[in-house]
Amino acid sequence: MAESASSIPPETDWDTAPGLLDGAMTLELSAEQCNLGYWLPAVAQGTLRDRARTGHTDAEPTPAHMRADGPLRDAQILELGCRSLAEEQATRVLGHYVAQATGVAEMEFFATQLVDEARHSMVFRNHLVELGVPAVGLFDTIAELTADYRIDVLDPILDFALRTVRDDGDFIGGVAVFTIVIEGVLAPAAELSERKWNRLDPAAAAIARGASIDEIRHLTVGSSIVREHLRRNPSARAALLDVVRRGRELWDTIPDRKHILVREHLFQEGLREHGALVGDYEVWPGTRLVDTEPEERYEMAERWTDKMAAARLAYMGLPEAVEILRLT
Ligand code: FE
Ligand code: FE
Repeated sequence: MAESASSIPPETDWDTAPGLLDGAMTLELSAEQCNLGYWLPAVAQGTLRDRARTGHTDAEPTPAHMRADGPLRDAQILELGCRSLAEEQATRVLGHYVAQATGVAEMEFFATQLVDEARHSMVFRNHLVELGVPAVGLFDTIAELTADYRIDVLDPILDFALRTVRDDGDFIGGVAVFTIVIEGVLAPAAELSERKWNRLDPAAAAIARGASIDEIRHLTVGSSIVREHLRRNPSARAALLDVVRRGRELWDTIPDRKHILVREHLFQEGLREHGALVGDYEVWPGTRLVDTEPEERYEMAERWTDKMAAARLAYMGLPEAVEILRLT
């Protein structure tokens, strides 16, 4: 096939790609489909056209109110600092997925996911500079800002993935951990971010939209890899359910809520100051963003996690895992 605009499939085209929740629940993509030959035109030259360096175009600016001292800016700095670190650490872990991949299709897919996550870390980090955080010492600033989040939340979940894929050499179990536990929990945060910043920080909303387009692919291909493995090896079911169960036990010990609510409370203060910019914008159907509370937003993200997990687990052929993972 000649390479042209038609090489950009609808799921990676900026103007036609579905939202994260919809896409992750309804699309079917496999590692064989999403190989390197797919990614280069579809993502590098498709999704990222005009947005490769910063994640947004010049027409998607960082407004002055986002650069002014105050809780709104603090909320964004904390959010993007934590998410940039999460993406960086995930990238490092994904190196082991590339190394352990069972076939070339899986290896190529994880090589592209590795670049996607490294890019997410980069554009989240660079937006901090657009908010006026000094570029000099940026990594130290992020490390300081995220020290507790890293120890309490990121290290334990990423260690779990490392133990599975690197130490136990269990590639499929590792894919399940990444798809169900890690991406499954980060994805609703990404969805919420896009909706929260939509009117307040157009650059951040575009950055989030680009990341969401990638996350749909990570969730659907990861699910497809597990599904195909289970189809060929029905006896793998017990071990997979065991990984899911241990992932849930681990998640129950992690104070994610406490950390997320710090930034949601800052966002709330900022929302009170800048509510006029948000107007009647609905964060989800029937609910205006200005009428939401921090806890309410966190709980909605948990409900999204459950909904997506139920759809993906049924697709994988692990419907029993839905109850194990249910958060709400
Ligand atoms: Fe990501
Ligand atoms: Fe991802």
